[in-house]
Amino acid sequence: MRPKPPPDYLAGYPAALVAQVRQLIAQDKLAGLLLQKYPQAHEVRTDKALYDYVLELKSEYLRNAGQLSRVAFDGRLHLKNALGMHTSISRTQGGNLKAKREIRVAAVFKEMPPEFLRMIAVHELAHIKEREHDKAFYQLCRHMAPDYAQLEFDLRTYLVYLDAGGVSLWAAEPNCKTVLPSNAE
Ligand SMILES: [Zn+2]
Repeated sequence: MRPKPPPDYLAGYPAALVAQVRQLIAQDKLAGLLLQKYPQAHEVRTDKALYDYVLELKSEYLRNAGQLSRVAFDGRLHLKNALGMHTSISRTQGGNLKAKREIRVAAVFKEMPPEFLRMIAVHELAHIKEREHDKAFYQLCRHMAPDYAQLEFDLRTYLVYLDAGGVSLWAAEPNCKTVLPSNAE
């Protein structure tokens, strides 16, 4: 069985820009630039915290856009090459049509700066109103996060960096383990 090719996170961006990103990664410079721009990790680590976070954004911008039944991190979304997912199942209940909406966010977002978490939350929230990735969709994204396009690009460069073997830049646990002196008596 051949392994699946890695997703091309920068598909659709200008070739010169993609080449620049790959060069920065090859020169070990991308991580530093990202950390300079996004120095802090967010603290939304549990499904409950994520639900509260997304709900707060929704009540600010999409108050009347129906209920959200569930919001959760998903450790398997990357297998589908997805960063987030919005599902809506309609069913009738007592003569009324009720939509059960769910938002799932790829687990990789647990260890990210607040800006990237906002980007994916905004993206999935926008899908409540706009199904396609069209002009109206991105307009709504920008309404909720004015720098949406830049955030999505920066996030994607980070995913390429991770794919190339880079270590997590915003890990909750430090990457290095404490080395115990071997001859401590
Ligand atoms: Zn989408």
